[in-house]
Amino acid sequence: MTPDLLIRGGTLLHPETETTQSADVLIQDGLIAEIDTDVEAGPEVPVYDATDRLISPGWMDMHVHLREPGFEHKETIATGARAAAAGGFTDVACMPNTDPPIHTRDVVEFVRERAAETPVGVHPIACVSKEREGKELAELADLADGGAVAFSDDGAPVQHAGLMRRALEYSTMLDCPIVNHMEEKTLNPNGQMHEGEVSARIGLDGIPGLADDVMIARDIELAAFTGGHVHVAHISTARGVELVRRAKARDLPVTAEVCTHHITLTDAAVEQSGFDTNTKMHPPLRSAEDVAALKEGLADGTIDALCTDHAPHAAFEKDVEFNAAPFGITGLGTAWGLIGRELIEPGVLSVAEAVQKLTVAPRRILQLDPPTLETGEPAVLTIFDADTRWTFTEDHVHSKSQNTPFLGDELVGRPWAIYRDGELVQNEA
Ligand SMILES: [Zn+2]
Repeated sequence: MTPDLLIRGGTLLHPETETTQSADVLIQDGLIAEIDTDVEAGPEVPVYDATDRLISPGWMDMHVHLREPGFEHKETIATGARAAAAGGFTDVACMPNTDPPIHTRDVVEFVRERAAETPVGVHPIACVSKEREGKELAELADLADGGAVAFSDDGAPVQHAGLMRRALEYSTMLDCPIVNHMEEKTLNPNGQMHEGEVSARIGLDGIPGLADDVMIARDIELAAFTGGHVHVAHISTARGVELVRRAKARDLPVTAEVCTHHITLTDAAVEQSGFDTNTKMHPPLRSAEDVAALKEGLADGTIDALCTDHAPHAAFEKDVEFNAAPFGITGLGTAWGLIGRELIEPGVLSVAEAVQKLTVAPRRILQLDPPTLETGEPAVLTIFDADTRWTFTEDHVHSKSQNTPFLGDELVGRPWAIYRDGELVQNEA
């Protein structure tokens, strides 16, 4: 516990107004007690030197898989929270494809109790359907009462349009979005990677971008019909971006997130890496045209939030033939450095815009109050920079798994610490 702390010499970044301010921050009992230049504190108060560093409200990754209960060999809530903190995230929303799935109130409460032992805020996303089977609606009101912030059958789409319609009708009463894993499964029953030139050449079954686009188009119409909030999980296609752009122009309750790996790599990585199973994820790495469109969608505001879809798998599970490997990679530790390298350095987003998509945007989508850097408020903040060049190695892995294609990559921008719940969690230089 570090309930009191003086953060000296940093620059505060307020994402809502995109303004900065050089000031010290005094935290007392976990609350922001003072923001000013040259704040004085007693000799007993620990000092964090934030010279040349930025301080923003705490970041949130609204799409992670923490694997507990049921798959603790991949990740636990404790190790996932540690990985989140190391990545600069004070909060995460976790997906319900656990065992048992987060489909009853007691599982929601189990996740929240486990999370309370960590310094990171863990916000459960509960299942749309019982057993995550896509057949019968889960008890959405009870799940929301238990603390679920949204509903999703992620890992699988809500394939059944009638079920999605009913879920959206409920969601309007509960003020929770339905987060759909956008994929029309019948278009890609055996797909292993993006369907295109590369998959044809190397002979792997493809997942067409069309699978995502058809589902996004369906759900936009369901959002228009029901008034329910559809959130597009891990958008990956150019056409999908265009569909969301048009939905927003119609003022429909449709929002979208993009994963850091989808703006970084293309399907070429599958071939170039020699079928590295850490290039296999759902949705798959797509074409260069898709990546360009995702960046455009971020820049013009079509895509609201940045996320990781952190999906840990044990080495023995990923260290198999490409066709047999599970989908997904870890993402919490590399997120900010990839955003710096792929979005900020090339000028796609400003630092403030990128931080907005990690702070205000995900919480607005999930109807949570974004933390602010103001006196009297709980201290929930991330300390980082946007220009340190560093190499991501095994030493930086805090997740229980290290299934990432980015080991050895040079990243730009470093998360240094988070503060939340009266606790400072720091990364070593
Ligand atoms: Zn998904």
